[in-house]
Amino acid sequence: MGKSYREELVGVFGDPVDENPTVVVAQKAFETLGIPYRYLTINVHPEALPAALEGLKAMNFKGMHLTIPHKVAAIPYLDSISEEAAIMGAVNTIVNQNGKLRGENTDGKGFMASVVNAGIDVTGKKVTMLGAGGAARAIAVELARAGIGELVIINRSEARGKGLVETLESHFSDLKVVYRCWDHTMTIDEDTAILVNTTDIGLYPNVDARPDIVFDSIHDRMIVCDVIPNHPHTQLLKEAEKRQAKTIDGLGMLINQCVESIRYWTGETADAEVMKEALAEEYGISVHY
Ligand code: NDP
Repeated sequence: MGKSYREELVGVFGDPVDENPTVVVAQKAFETLGIPYRYLTINVHPEALPAALEGLKAMNFKGMHLTIPHKVAAIPYLDSISEEAAIMGAVNTIVNQNGKLRGENTDGKGFMASVVNAGIDVTGKKVTMLGAGGAARAIAVELARAGIGELVIINRSEARGKGLVETLESHFSDLKVVYRCWDHTMTIDEDTAILVNTTDIGLYPNVDARPDIVFDSIHDRMIVCDVIPNHPHTQLLKEAEKRQAKTIDGLGMLINQCVESIRYWTGETADAEVMKEALAEEYGISVHY
């Protein structure tokens, strides 16, 4: 008598979403914290997003992660949005505050934590970023906040690339930002300290896909980061390793952004170490976070 069989609900909306491994780390974190939370991986088609967001309120979800293609599209349907998420123009974490949905963004913080944990100081550095979508916007804002010296944004769509440049210039007046149109095989500037792939090139099932860049322009003084979580050992990282560059995969970002989201949903600090072990076991590889 008195035992509660109800669980607090959180999860992720995406399309596609089947191969998103966040449930592995989130569920492990809840288990370790000893709290009755359930993380659900839910496929929501773009046209169903407004109804799905309403459903969060109806079913008392504590919150939700958003991934492709919902991070920008969800914003008009939220009741409020944090200042950072507003600058980024993308939300990856929804928090249900007594029936009101608030948008936050933990992607960039997760990325920065994985870079800092790898012992890298980004201050004053030149960063080249492939892509200008939701993940790119989150990462670019956090890199700018951390005081990088210069950012080169390489993107196919000029509107998205230039849009991100304008956002950064209006909020970070000291930062030098350049856009280059990705309409040919791109050479990475030799003085790039950090190269970041923020596109979905290489994401499962397209694991053999590789960004259209001159791989020989990567060298051993570069740090090459990829946001792809599945499979994390991307063709880009393999090419970077061949050239003795230091590499950082997308799993550290995944773990650290999840720690931040769990803090919003539960008020608790999840144990990144056990989350790392859960992922390492899932993929049969060693994971740095
Ligand atoms: P978006 O759809 O917002 O952006 C996708 C970006 O990729 C755009 O800049 C798009 O360019 C570019 N792109 C896609 N395909 C190609 C291609 N063939 N050639 C060149 N550019 C291409 O997606 P998100 O930013 O939300 O997500 C991107 C990736 O980041 C996903 O793989 C996701 O899994 C990963 N991610 C990982 C996280 C982690 O924790 N590790 C967290 C968040 C995201 P264009 O503008 O020209 O269309």
